[in-house]
Amino acid sequence: MRRALLLVPLLLTLVLASPAVAAPWTWPLGDHTIERPFDPPSSEYGAGHRGVDIPGRVGQTVRAVAVGRVAFAGRVAGIWTITIEHGGERSTYQPVAPSVRVGDAVTAGQPIGRLLGDHPSCRRTCLNLGRLRGDEYLDPADLLATAGAYRLIDPDGEVPEPPDVGMGDLPIDGPVTSAFGMRVHPVTGVRKLHDGVDVGAPCGTPVPAVAAGEVGHAGFRGGYGLQVQVEHAGGVATSYSHLGSVTVRPGQRVGAGTVVGRVGSTGYSTGCHLHFMRLVDGRPVDPLAAR
Ligand SMILES: [Zn+2]
Repeated sequence: MRRALLLVPLLLTLVLASPAVAAPWTWPLGDHTIERPFDPPSSEYGAGHRGVDIPGRVGQTVRAVAVGRVAFAGRVAGIWTITIEHGGERSTYQPVAPSVRVGDAVTAGQPIGRLLGDHPSCRRTCLNLGRLRGDEYLDPADLLATAGAYRLIDPDGEVPEPPDVGMGDLPIDGPVTSAFGMRVHPVTGVRKLHDGVDVGAPCGTPVPAVAAGEVGHAGFRGGYGLQVQVEHAGGVATSYSHLGSVTVRPGQRVGAGTVVGRVGSTGYSTGCHLHFMRLVDGRPVDPLAAR
């Protein structure tokens, strides 16, 4: 009895002395795998891997791992990054085109943006998820409910088959304000084929290519305004119209997720949106039917 009474203050001391125990995280992408595990650098500027890589597809929805508040949404060394504060710890997400703003409150599992491509630490499209307490990097996998559900891919082994390169996905997050098909044009009043899908998004939103290819056109093209067209394999092309600015040149090779421009309202357009087209042998097809 006496021993039990002594244990109570001891346990209380232990509980109070240890840092706040973080709640488990939910997975930020649907694919519950880690391609490259945590391998913290031995010094602050040393080589290492400050987070885990989770494979995904360009355009895939990225979700907050826990309840918190957006502390940062912008570029770090050229890479689109979101940081969420969870009271004592932070989660970081790269490369992600944010759909949240600094100060926004988020819940666990809430969409915060879309996965971009070309993260330097990944061999193919992946999300780099980081976990920070103060300036110290911690292993995110300790909080992710793994239950044996993730597989580690041997870094020296065969490269796994890449997932679908985003064909059939929209390049940016946002409501489809006009689908592919016959319609009365809002500017000209003429009934004709709407040869792409309109996605509503704020002007300035970065627009990533949905798949790797070569830039065939980057400049003004009639009613399409400022347009980038990317030629992919097999006679398939995608184009991105009404852009406010263009960040690639004709002839340039782009990867899935390379930002080709920013949403604007150039050409025949009534407001900030992306007109996204998919062409097969030069003929427009419904981008959303390409799944
Ligand atoms: Zn359109």
